[in-house]
This record gives sequence, C-alpha cells and structure tokens, in this order.
Amino acid sequence: MDTVSPPVSQPEPKSGIWEIAAYVGGKSKIEGVAEPTKLSSNENALGSSLKAIEAFEAARAKLFRYPDGHAAPLREAVAAYHGLEPERLIFGNGSDEVFGVLNQAWLEAGDNIVTGEHGFLAYRISAEACQAEVRLAPEPAQRVEIERLLELVDARTKIVYISNPANPTGTWNTPEEIADLRSRLAPHILLVIDEAYAEFADEPTYQSAFALARNCDNMIVTRTFSKIHGLAGLRVGFGYAPVRVIEALDRIRMPFNINLPAQYAAIASLADQAHLDASRAQVLQWRPRFYQAVRALGYRVDVSQGNFVLIHFADEAQAVRANEHLMQKGFIVRHVANYGLPHCLRVTIGKDYENEGFLAALGAFAG
Ligand code: PMP
Repeated sequence: MDTVSPPVSQPEPKSGIWEIAAYVGGKSKIEGVAEPTKLSSNENALGSSLKAIEAFEAARAKLFRYPDGHAAPLREAVAAYHGLEPERLIFGNGSDEVFGVLNQAWLEAGDNIVTGEHGFLAYRISAEACQAEVRLAPEPAQRVEIERLLELVDARTKIVYISNPANPTGTWNTPEEIADLRSRLAPHILLVIDEAYAEFADEPTYQSAFALARNCDNMIVTRTFSKIHGLAGLRVGFGYAPVRVIEALDRIRMPFNINLPAQYAAIASLADQAHLDASRAQVLQWRPRFYQAVRALGYRVDVSQGNFVLIHFADEAQAVRANEHLMQKGFIVRHVANYGLPHCLRVTIGKDYENEGFLAALGAFAG
C-alpha cells in the first residue's frame, strides 16, 4: 500500500506568516467616553479640504464605473503640483501599498531590507511575508544614523527604507546624509525615502529628496494624501521612481487600486492650497507650544518635523500610567512600545481646543 501523508486538519498559510506581528492602528474608542479626542494617528487636525469633500460627493454619479486604472488625471495633477514626470509615478492604496508592491516585486526568501530600529512598521510587514529578513539599525539618539544602516547592508540587501521626517520620532536626515547614503549603496540596492510628513518640516536642514531622486536610478520617494491632505480614509499615496522601477511595480499592482472617489478627492485637494497652508500653519504654530508646555512639566520632548510630538517619560511604567490617565480624561494618544520606544507617547497635533485640553490633561498627571 502507498504511504499517504496524514491529512492536514486545516488550511495553513506559508511558513513565517504566524510569526508576523499584525499592525495595530491607533485606537478610536475609549470605554465610557462618548466622544474621545483622537490624537493617535497623525491625521490632519483640520480635517479634509471642503473642495475634496465636494469632489468626493460628485463621484456618487460615477460609482458604477471602474476608476481610471492608471489614475491618469490624478497622475497629471500630482506631476504638475510637484514638478515631477508623470511616467515616473506609481499610486497606491495609501503609501503602505506602494511599500507592499515594492517588497513583493523585489524580495525573495533570504533577501533582506534595512531600516532604522524605530522605523515605520509597514515596511516590515510585507517584507516578512516575502520571507525576507528585516534588519534594524540602532538609533541611539532616536534618529536614523547612516553609518549604522550601512553596517547592516550586505550582498542580500535589496531595499533600504527610511522615513524622512521619521515617524514616530519626528527626527530627520539632512540632504547631505541622504546623498551620502545613496552614493555608498551598491547601484542595484533601492533606497526608499518615505516623505509622508515632508510638508510639516520647517528646519533649514530638511529637504525633500525629489530633486536627488530625479537623477538616480535606484531611489524612490513616497508621499501620501493621508496627512497634509487630510484624506487618510480614502487611502491614496504615491511613489516617484525611475521608469524601470515603475514598470516593474505596474506589473504586479492590482489593476484599479485607487478607487474612483479617492481619485476625485485627491485631485481636488491638490487644488486647495488654502487648506494645505492652513493645515501646515496649525502644526507649525502648535509644535513649539507643545515643546514649551511639555518641557515645563518636566518631560523630554525633542524637535519634531512631523504633525506630532514624541514625549519621553521616565520609563515604560510611567508612560503606561500617563496613557491610562490621558484615556480617563478622554484623550487617545499612541504608546509607541511596538516601535521600540516603550517609555514614549506620540501625540498628534490637533485643533486648538484639543491641544489645550491635552496639555491640561497631561499637566494633571501626577507622574
Ligand atoms: N509612512 C509613514 C512614516 C507614516 O507614518 C504613515 C502613516 N502612519 C505612512 C507612511 C502611511 O501612509 P498611508 O496612509 O499613505 O498608507
């Protein structure tokens, strides 16, 4: 008689899937609090542009149609707004999806990606699903260190990811550092600069990498409509890359990955400069007020280039107590333990009354 393998009792995903820690997003509810103040996901304090909402509503009549599979009108609008070549753009269901298709297209089992130890978690998830190794470079000052990244790069490295400005630390790398990193990577290694928070940066030593990427064959710069554009719920992001990279990604992305209302709203939001300016002004006005108020309470907070600040507590236990206290007061912030910062809470800058309320609630924390 032939030997038969014992029947598997249930469907099993490929190896490695159970070892991946699922992404946990910001909470939106607190038990017993009817309307909590949500400052946990770095969303736009001022909401969406009214022009974008109008465009979203106008899409109702077209919902039976497939969206433009190439996002052509959005592509033209983004290219014109940022001064980029339209054929060098890839759109994703959030920039998260751009990282996902990039990993799928580039990584085989045994390859690796390199990023900072406090780097954004979405880079890692799909890399792990490709059975690639995720190498985390130490960030002793909570900032990406180019030398530390380079120490981890080897023959199996396919992609190096950094977010600039970085989430959740709010720190940034200078254009010189980015150019240095790029020039020291072998030409076949892709360098991804995630600029989700670029519009909130105001330090003279910060600069977008679009200009550097224009002349490079191995750089990708990503942006999102979730932050300054206030369209996180619609999921639109994009990458600017060499045409050859775009052509590879276009082969494996899902055909209609940017839905129709999202395309309409994103185009309209690009045309609402007043809303973009007001959103940036809200953050730039409040960030220094947060530093001052939080430091006056005795906690460390570093200069941030995002629409959030990272507050350091004495230790994890104190951060957990502060988080619980804030929740009791109706404020949802992010305890960033899963980013390797268990003693820190990340707080998104909100509307005036939300920020005032948050600072008062933190002030009432007994420690
Ligand atoms: N990059 C960073 C650094 C982020 O913090 C976020 C959102 N939290 C994203 C990318 C993802 O943006 P999107 O909503 O476009 O997927």
